[in-house]
Parts: sequence; structure tokens; C-alpha cells
Amino acid sequence: MAAIEMKNIVKKYGDGFPAVNDVSIDVADGEFMILVGPSGCGKSTLLRMIVGLEDITSGDMIIGGDRVNDLAPRDRNLSMVFQNYALYPHLTVYENIAFPLRLAKMSNKEIDEKVRDASKTLDLDEHLQRKPGNLSGGQRQRVAMGRAIVREARAFLFDEPLSNLDAKLRGQMRTEIARLQKRLGITTVYVTHDQTEAMTLGDRVAVMKRGILQQLASPRELYEQP
Ligand code: ADP
Ligand code: ADP
Repeated sequence: MAAIEMKNIVKKYGDGFPAVNDVSIDVADGEFMILVGPSGCGKSTLLRMIVGLEDITSGDMIIGGDRVNDLAPRDRNLSMVFQNYALYPHLTVYENIAFPLRLAKMSNKEIDEKVRDASKTLDLDEHLQRKPGNLSGGQRQRVAMGRAIVREARAFLFDEPLSNLDAKLRGQMRTEIARLQKRLGITTVYVTHDQTEAMTLGDRVAVMKRGILQQLASPRELYEQP
């Protein structure tokens, strides 16, 4: 069964041309799916409909076998990683990772176990008492992912997470994300307009143009054609 099934998804803002026009994509369990395409082609809109931040005009969004069209974001158990990672600057790494568990009123003992497990996986155990302002970009990214891991989110969603970084840092972060993905194997949908990111990270790449899904193929099929 696919982790995320998008069936004939349409999004219209007002009366205009559909921003997303009859898109169907199955994302397999553990798959890293890339959405690419020029600015305005509907990538963010599609991602926001998966998360539940945008209403679907027609079609079905199915996550873990359940139709979620009418489910609020908090009930979808997904984790969206934004460009700025939305870390709390005044909280330590530990408390940033623990934050969703505190909201869920989990016991201190359980929180401690989960935070320590996640921080080991992410090589953050040496940095738990530091604040985000004193971390590298790569470390901040890992904190954001730690927060998603402790919630046991069903999938990660990324909206151009690297687009504000300089080329060198972008390269490092790309490597970092690829490494974590290999280790964690969590279903991921990742929006980018960067072909290198699509090639190095994606199991498959969905190419969009003016709201339409143009191609859905492995990076090799797309970019290494003879
Ligand atoms: P991308 O992420 O590929 O750049 P978007 O999903 O942001 O594309 O936008 C797709 C289309 O929908 C664009 O034409 C954009 O102008 C339009 N659009 C996006 N958000 C809104 C909105 N909140 N209201 C009206 N139109 C929107
Ligand atoms: P508040 O921050 O006041 O609790 P929100 O609506 O921002 O209200 O978030 C409530 C819950 O919805 C969050 O704990 C989270 O689980 C979920 N949520 C909101 N936005 C997102 C998002 N972009 N990605 C994943 N989950 C989200």
C-alpha cells in the first residue's frame, strides 16, 4: 500500500486556471519523492494539500489508507519542515526536540527517552544544552528533523528547505539529508527547483508544469537520457 495516494487532485483558487490540475501520484512507503517544476507550477500548493494547510477542490488525498481530505493538519500525523526550520531560539536543542511531546502532555521520563534516542540517531547528543543560535545550519536541520522523529510522523514534507543557503552549505545539507534518509527510511515529499537536489535525493521525481503532472520517473530516467 502506498503511504500517500493523491488521486485526481485539483486545486482552484477563485475562478482562475487550476493551480493543481488532476494530479495523481502514489508515494510508496519509505520513498523519497521529489516535486520539481518552474515557479508557479503548483508544487507548494500540492504539498500544502498533503499537509492539510490548503483545502482540496476535488480529488482524494489518502494517507496510510485513510481519506484525509477533511482532517485537520494536527490529525494527519505528518511533519512539515520549513525553510527556516521554525526552531525556538530561546529553547535548548533538548527542549526544541521535546516540544511536541510536551504539548502532548507526555511524562518527563518518556520524553527523556524519546529525545535521547532521536538525538543519538541524529548525532545531536553532544549539543542538547545548546541553543539554535549557536548551531550550524546542518545541526539546526537535524533538530527540526528530531522534532519530527519524536512525534513518529508518518511522513516528512519539505518545501525548498535549502533554497536560502549559499552553494557550499546547500551541498553539505544535501549530503546530510541523503544520509538521514538512508538511515531513517521515512516517506518523504520534497519540493525543490534544484536539479542536483532532485538527482541526488529522489527515488522518483514528479515534474509539474502549470498544475499538470508532466512526468514521473527515477532521476536516472529523467536526467541521464542518452
Ligand atoms: P510553486 O510552488 O510551484 O511555485 P504555487 O503552488 O505556489 O507554485 O502556485 C501555483 C499557482 O497558484 C500560481 O499561479 C500561484 O500564483 C497560485 N496561488 C498560490 N497560492 C495562492 C493563493 N493563496 N491564492 C491565489 N492564488 C494562489
Ligand atoms: P498551534 O500551534 O496553536 O497548536 P497549529 O494549527 O499551528 O496550532 O498546530 C497544531 C498542530 O497541527 C501541530 O501540533 C501539528 O501537529 C499540526 N501542524 C500544523 N501545521 C503543520 C505543518 N505545517 N506540518 C505538520 N503538522 C502541522
